[in-house]
Amino acid sequence: MNKYLEELVKLSKFDTKISMFEPQIENEKAKLATFVETAEAIKTSINDIYVQIDDVKSKRTKNNIHLAELKTKLDDISKKHNEVQNEKELKALQLEEEITKEQISFANEEIIRLDEITEEKESQLKEAKEKLTEEEESIKEIQTAVDEKIEQINQERNSVYQERSELLEKFDNKILTFYEKIKRWAKDTAVVPVKKQACYGCFMKINDKTYAEVIKSEEIVNCPHCGRILYKEDETEEA
Ligand SMILES: [Zn+2]
Repeated sequence: MNKYLEELVKLSKFDTKISMFEPQIENEKAKLATFVETAEAIKTSINDIYVQIDDVKSKRTKNNIHLAELKTKLDDISKKHNEVQNEKELKALQLEEEITKEQISFANEEIIRLDEITEEKESQLKEAKEKLTEEEESIKEIQTAVDEKIEQINQERNSVYQERSELLEKFDNKILTFYEKIKRWAKDTAVVPVKKQACYGCFMKINDKTYAEVIKSEEIVNCPHCGRILYKEDETEEA
């Protein structure tokens, strides 16, 4: 293979690798983000449950006050029994007593109902707190793994940068300018292999003459359709 072409293929592969590092790092960070989001959602639901419990407890307090009032009323009614003058007054008093007793029993039921809700909410709260603890432990573990992976990616990136700059030291300036001009629009596909007699940048079939030149690899050949630099890839090598 033409020496310049060989170096161009190498340079292009380094550049492709370099552009892959940032997405890889983002991908690692995204792994953590999902867990952090879940933890935040649990925290929000814990706060909601606290608010709900407060609300139920305040209703219970109101019911207790009401209950105490009803009991005082019932005491008053029983005292009034001694002052009853006639049958009509007695009936009225008995009716009032009956209604008050019903109200007391309703208030008692309501308190039981509210206590059941509180109990349920508290068990939900406990569950949510346990989930949060689990999630926070996972976050710690993932954070460590992600940090390690990012460190590894950065090391790999440094070594690719190193290899790239070593390659550039002996690089022909004209060829480099030529490459960078194509790279401006073709990004990481400035230098592409030919597969099945097609350019792997624009995926158009190339004519037999150009294809023969690519196979010979004596010159730097551009795709007649898009202008990318073409090379014949080893059959065994996967791009
Ligand atoms: Zn092309």
